[in-house]
Amino acid sequence: MNHRFPATSDRPILILGASGQVGRALAQKLDARALAVSRQEADLANPTRLPILLDSLRPSVVINAAAYTQVDRAEQEEPLVQIINGEAPGILARWCAAHDVPFVHYSTDYVYSGEGISPWTEDAPVSPVNAYGRTKLMGDLAVAGAGGNWLIFRTSWVYDTQGKNFLNTIIRLGKERESLRIISDQHGAPTYAPDLADATLEILGRALTQPRFPNGVYHLCNSGETTWHEFATEILVRVREQGAELKVRNIEAIPTTEYPLPARRPLNSRLSLEKVHKIFGIKLPNWRLGLRRCLQEMMYF
Ligand code: NDP
Repeated sequence: MNHRFPATSDRPILILGASGQVGRALAQKLDARALAVSRQEADLANPTRLPILLDSLRPSVVINAAAYTQVDRAEQEEPLVQIINGEAPGILARWCAAHDVPFVHYSTDYVYSGEGISPWTEDAPVSPVNAYGRTKLMGDLAVAGAGGNWLIFRTSWVYDTQGKNFLNTIIRLGKERESLRIISDQHGAPTYAPDLADATLEILGRALTQPRFPNGVYHLCNSGETTWHEFATEILVRVREQGAELKVRNIEAIPTTEYPLPARRPLNSRLSLEKVHKIFGIKLPNWRLGLRRCLQEMMYF
């Protein structure tokens, strides 16, 4: 997708989280317009230094794709995660507001409790069930309270060709083991990082040309819904179809209660995509299509 931005500024679009799944996809799509920085240049754990960096870089837009994303480890070091996910986004957003620079931030399905079976809308009550969700919610509130022009995209189950994610774990386990046990009572939408990056830039391009910047929280994930068990099954079926050598024969569906982890997970992570469709006319591809494209990139097709 070719993204068009108003040619009002030759200052860079700053991306934080350059080595992450979403940061990488954004930088690749923006190419020369992006200035992508990693933890070494912009450490969110040391947020008082961020305004100094921003003063020197003078970005035209800031996109924060950096976050502490290790959900289970977050339970052990919540105070640090609060700084990275909760406080740093507010500092970035306040600098942006003071300098009339639009700020884009990512949040998570984990801000919701996971009760019920209906898709969450953006105005649904928030009630995170783990430390990661609590700190991400702190970040959302700080960004929304900073003033200026801002967009928060709540997404879910992000994966990419590289990195430590569910897709790569399942392919590895499928090669190593004959039998897998995968959770089948958590519902949501796996989101291919480049699809999320495309939608982000499409919305940002439109927001920048609107007379009034459409500040707000928006859900943004691949469309459709599934479970981790169905997602794993689809991954392995597609990979095997393409001739990859897999050992796995049996993919057992298990409830969350049979796979205890340090952090609780919401069972219902379905996110309604109506708002982003209504306001920007954007609909992300179905998760199966996202997976297909990702596997194509990995040359499993
Ligand atoms: P990744 O874990 O792939 O990337 C996170 C990035 O943040 C990495 O580049 C990492 O750097 C960086 N980072 C971590 N700690 C710091 C720090 N102290 N200072 C600066 N940078 C830091 O995450 P995603 O790309 O998948 O996530 C993008 C956004 O989407 C995040 O806001 C996340 O909360 C949200 N999200 C992600 C989901 C997912 O399933 N992954 C689901 C829902 C929301 P380094 O490589 O050095 O560790």
